[in-house]
Amino acid sequence: MKIEQIVATQIFDARGEPTIGCTLILDNGAYVTSEVPSGRSKSSFAAVELRDGDARFCGMGVSKAIANITNIIAPALIGQIPSLVEMDMKMVELDDSENKSKLGANATLAVSVAVLKAQALVQELEVYELIAHLCDFERVSLPFAMFNLINGGVHAHKSIAIQECMIMPVGVESFRSSIELAAEVFYKTEELLKKRDMFFGIGDEGGYSAPFNTEIEALDLVMQALKELGVEQQVVLALDIAATQLYDPKTETYSFGNQTFDTQELIDYYGKLSEQYPLYSIEDGLVESDWKGWQQMTKQLGEKLQIVGDDLFATNPARIIYGIENNAANAAVIKPNQVGTVTEALQSIKLCRDYDMNVVVSHRSGETNDSFIVDLAVGTSAGQIKAGGLMRGERIGKYNKLLCIEEELMDAMLGF
Ligand code: PEP
Ligand code: MG
Repeated sequence: MKIEQIVATQIFDARGEPTIGCTLILDNGAYVTSEVPSGRSKSSFAAVELRDGDARFCGMGVSKAIANITNIIAPALIGQIPSLVEMDMKMVELDDSENKSKLGANATLAVSVAVLKAQALVQELEVYELIAHLCDFERVSLPFAMFNLINGGVHAHKSIAIQECMIMPVGVESFRSSIELAAEVFYKTEELLKKRDMFFGIGDEGGYSAPFNTEIEALDLVMQALKELGVEQQVVLALDIAATQLYDPKTETYSFGNQTFDTQELIDYYGKLSEQYPLYSIEDGLVESDWKGWQQMTKQLGEKLQIVGDDLFATNPARIIYGIENNAANAAVIKPNQVGTVTEALQSIKLCRDYDMNVVVSHRSGETNDSFIVDLAVGTSAGQIKAGGLMRGERIGKYNKLLCIEEELMDAMLGF
């Protein structure tokens, strides 16, 4: 089966902002689709998301990126059997820039994910199975999920300064038990917010957004929910500070509401938090450009905590290698649209695996209904995924897909 047509259209992400939807049609009439997500707290080291920059949609239109698919990418791929690595490398060659600035990482990722799905269809494999084959991994496995319970930062106006306060059920036997536990914590958290008569809303990533005075107040509410449910032994906490958003380069300090920290004070603060709360993971604890600070943070806290680089690494293999060589973190977030092709995201995951770095496959705050990241997490046995809270369909769709895959894998194990 060969690629007959690649059609790209402007659709909308979960924030109502333009993004790309892509349909790849095979010569037997079968087709696959992909939808590209978009971030708000973006790394300046990420590949370029090509936007029109004109008067429409506040400059966020994607017609230039769509034209690149129609006029440059599609003609180079049509008539061939879908093959991810070959076609991703073709797009890298066509783009011929350091950071996908010519074609746009949104254009290349739309096609890359569609090609991957088409190849899986042609080879009669699940997408996660094909990913495992492409990486030479012998097995696939379900990740632990970090569920976004309290949303803040640039994803939730007037909530906490920290972008994501997540719960991670670990003392559970299956993903089904994990989501059941997480759902109960969500219900309890909402009940507690109502009891306190606190105004609350839902952040971009599907966690609660509420005007807590400090992050301590939010963490205490989370702990109260866990304790009232009697599950505090089964859950650990993960924070995405998204510290680049809180950093003032002029004063070289970070501002959390009315508290200000310099780099060392902030690292010490994380140390204190980890003594007071069952903290397991801190993502983007410092600004994306401060390699020295990251080294100090990893030296001081890395034995005890998972120190995760998101904006720091931008899913970029070269930055991940630099981070490994310099002990700047012990885990990396993987967001395919930060690098622009599935193949390059897989390279980053393989690198992490070779050097004992943990991996967290991640959604974006402007998600779509494409649940490809679930296949990525399962197919690479990434170990961890964050796909938002238990609200908003584009997040729930990913968790529901994990439930389906768990059943498929159980059935396969039991020989059904
Ligand atoms: C994140 O920072 O991990 C995140 C998911 O947010 P965004 O997509 O806005 O970068
Ligand atoms: Mg992050």
